[in-house]
Amino acid sequence: MSKLRKRIIAGNWKMNKSVAESKDLAADIKRELADCREVDVVLCPPFTSLSVVADAVDNTQVKFGAQNMHWESDGAYTGEISANMLRSIYCHYVILGHSERRSYFGETDEIVNKKTKAALAGNLIPIVCIGETLEERSAQRHKEVVKTQLEGSLAGIDADEMKRVVLAYEPVWAIGTGEVATPEQAQEIHAFIRSVIAELANAEVAAGIRIQYGGSMKAANAAELLAQPDIDGGLIGGAALDARSFVELVRVAQSE
Ligand code: PEP
Repeated sequence: MSKLRKRIIAGNWKMNKSVAESKDLAADIKRELADCREVDVVLCPPFTSLSVVADAVDNTQVKFGAQNMHWESDGAYTGEISANMLRSIYCHYVILGHSERRSYFGETDEIVNKKTKAALAGNLIPIVCIGETLEERSAQRHKEVVKTQLEGSLAGIDADEMKRVVLAYEPVWAIGTGEVATPEQAQEIHAFIRSVIAELANAEVAAGIRIQYGGSMKAANAAELLAQPDIDGGLIGGAALDARSFVELVRVAQSE
């Protein structure tokens, strides 16, 4: 395991789980991982379940995060929620620019950039998602696409602030499809992402920034992905919806 970077496994529950189901899932995960110090464990339920998850993991090593937020602090933005609101329930993390937000809700790099700055200013840790579509990969454009997303999403963020960002490389073709990037494919692009961060900030930030892999990651394929030198954890969709599969995955990240 990299001594420099602590692994981070985050569960993105997406639009799943009622409040009661969330409470049970968080309680089951907490039972197993309350004292987990080797890996940062983050649960990202829907907004309606943030409070029950907050209560369930209170005073443990398990943290929680939101799946989205608005860049303004308050005001007439019907249906939105701000960094201040998230901090008011002691939320630590927020996922930003997930490919589903980009493709279904029109989030551009510019929007992700505003949200990332607002999250940092609001003392939240943004998990900024990037990744190419199948079409872009087939056209060998994946590096160019990821570089543009990084430049746009992180524009104007200085090196000190960038240290607090977590990146999630999620090839869109691997999300929820059961198709996983090979460890070699993932490592190649993670190393590339780190080189882009060195250009945008500096070598120290690039060496320290954590880059998660996301896309059909589960306990059975996690070891070989996490064994890659530039993969520092995972952003987990499907396998995060069941306590046993999520805990097993975290156990893989803890071992080695
Ligand atoms: C995700 O949506 O962030 C994700 C990685 O989903 P899955 O693990 O289901 O592919």
